[in-house]
Amino acid sequence: QATLKSNVKHPYPDWKEGEPVPYAALCQTFSLIELTSKRLEIMAHCSLFLRQVMRLTPDDLLPTVLLMVNKLAPDYAGIELGIGESLIMKAIGETTGRSLSVIKQDQKEIGDLGLVAVKSRATQPTMFKPKPLTVRGVHKILMDIATVTGNGAQQKKVDFIKKLLSASDVNMKGKADITKDKGGPSEAKFLVRFLEGKLRLGLAEKTVIVSLAQAMVAHEAWKKGKVPSTADLEKGEQILKQVYSELPSYDVIIPAMVKHGIFNLREHCKLRPGVPLKPMLAKPTKAITEVLDRFEGQTFTCEYKYDGERAQIHYVAKDTGEALSQSASGASKEVGKGVAAIFSRNSEDLSKKYPDVLAKLPTWVKEDTKSFVLDCESVAWDVNEKKVLPFQTLMTRKKKDVKVEDVKVKVCVFAFDLLYLNGEAIVHKSLRERRELMYKAFQPVEGEFAFATHMNSQELEDIQAFLDESVKASCEGLMVKMLDGEESGYEPSKRSRNWLKIKKDYLSGVGDSLDLVVLGAYYGKGKRTSVYGAFLLACYNPIKETYETVCNIGTGFSDSVLEELYKQLSEIVIDRPKPFYSHSSTAQHQPDVWFEPRYVWEVKTADLTLSPRYKAGMYEGVDPSGEKGISLRFPRFIKVRDDKKPDEATSSRQVAEMYRKQESVAKSKGPAVDDDW
Ligand code: ATP
Repeated sequence: QATLKSNVKHPYPDWKEGEPVPYAALCQTFSLIELTSKRLEIMAHCSLFLRQVMRLTPDDLLPTVLLMVNKLAPDYAGIELGIGESLIMKAIGETTGRSLSVIKQDQKEIGDLGLVAVKSRATQPTMFKPKPLTVRGVHKILMDIATVTGNGAQQKKVDFIKKLLSASDVNMKGKADITKDKGGPSEAKFLVRFLEGKLRLGLAEKTVIVSLAQAMVAHEAWKKGKVPSTADLEKGEQILKQVYSELPSYDVIIPAMVKHGIFNLREHCKLRPGVPLKPMLAKPTKAITEVLDRFEGQTFTCEYKYDGERAQIHYVAKDTGEALSQSASGASKEVGKGVAAIFSRNSEDLSKKYPDVLAKLPTWVKEDTKSFVLDCESVAWDVNEKKVLPFQTLMTRKKKDVKVEDVKVKVCVFAFDLLYLNGEAIVHKSLRERRELMYKAFQPVEGEFAFATHMNSQELEDIQAFLDESVKASCEGLMVKMLDGEESGYEPSKRSRNWLKIKKDYLSGVGDSLDLVVLGAYYGKGKRTSVYGAFLLACYNPIKETYETVCNIGTGFSDSVLEELYKQLSEIVIDRPKPFYSHSSTAQHQPDVWFEPRYVWEVKTADLTLSPRYKAGMYEGVDPSGEKGISLRFPRFIKVRDDKKPDEATSSRQVAEMYRKQESVAKSKGPAVDDDW
């Protein structure tokens, strides 16, 4: 607060008003953030810097924020750097004239490729002083790296990285002391870390959003010669969080905020077709009684929990004057009298996977329905038996460039929520109202489009019977949702207590399966010698940006699955664990091979226990001695989760929450902890 209210003087003499933000200035801020683990200090550094950008070069606010959150564009734009460790090492070698083997050796010793780059650059004689990097310049070249295609794309990517590295300052103190202050405010270090996809600053995206809001409020107050009030700071934060959850696109929000001010942002940045919002998520439960406790005295509704793939369908009719948001135009398709797009749980474009759904869309959209955003589950459908098929069948569908005439696995879309209708966001209406609007706006078409089956009784016996019915209908269990009142509004991106999931399989277990990242593997024994026989898995700690190990797993794999996994994983083997892997250092606990963090697997477990061998939830205070992490007992592989990225794996906090719940099964009647914001 004190920093926000003080008058800011910026410490970068080379940065003149209206001129591009020097990349060095951003790295200076990163470095300050890196040296603390206190959230308030991190926020103060972050917002102070953003205020300077707002004041001196507001045009650069967008690339600055993007580089802070380690992104190049909104998720739905599908822009990825597409480079691995070996490409970065190659570029470091070629830039600095050092051999690949020396670089590999350094990496073994130092562990952090960013610091290897610093060391390599420092040992290189500088012939001339390169033109300083700017934030917008770095963003532009990173975009070039992400979008280059065609022949020789890999070498072109290396060339772009070289361009960045050779212009980067090693260390603004003039010398590269990589042992001190975590390597200092080096441009080379942060560039390489960005390329690796992890800045490792402990700067979560949510912290950047809050800092951005605070900076903006302070900036607007400063323009009026005032200091911001605490009430205004809180209001600004609320506005930006809400706007971002409904319209997760800095590309749209930041220019609007600079132009119209933060307090007017809601009017200019509303949920809109074409920009996928982050879906609302549910909390796990393991008994119907837990559901009844949670919703005591409130009305709720139960729906079948279909086992397919989440699909957010966006549509705008051409005669409305509305348009599917420009930036998503790559994902949209013309359908009937309108334009539509389908997005995954991850905001990725699914339009190329489901052209059959898009083709049929006009048959289930009623004439008066001119624009909408519909939350659905796409489920494999048995056309002859007229019933739902298991998730495994859906997985056999081709993912890209599907042609309608070639589709073998038919899908039926089950709609369960409506978020936008005829030009208006309706997320704040109650679920009962949204559901009524949804029933009026669409019509079921057998085997192609249906509304999720629901039941509104609040009686334990009825819920039990409905759960059994759902399982007979090949569903995973139930979703139980608050039906009326403010709390029943749709909460984008939130794992909310207002949506609970009951999975039949887990009623006697820990309440839910986990989605974990594969970090390493052990060679098989006996008939599994030519493949990996067991794997080391981890959950994700978004605050520390680390993967914390949680179990070894060797059960639940068929021989053919093991072969397939061996092929996939062999391609991402790395020499040593990444510095952001948190695992026991005891020699006998090390896997035979390590991998890049890429694949997420769904895993079921009997229960959770504490173990000195694993690190999951180490910082969540579950072990009073602070030495043990949480581990899974009898873990079993269920499936590969193609729709989740590694940083969307189950978080350490969720694992800790599961552990705590299990420890106090009957005792815990109180509300579960919200893990958002
Ligand atoms: P999470 O999203 O909670 O991390 P997850 O992706 O593994 O976990 P589940 O635990 O299976 O998902 O539960 C939520 C998912 O269930 C939703 O994302 C959605 O795809 C699916 N689903 C199926 N039926 C419904 C329904 N009626 N209402 C809401 N979601 C449903």
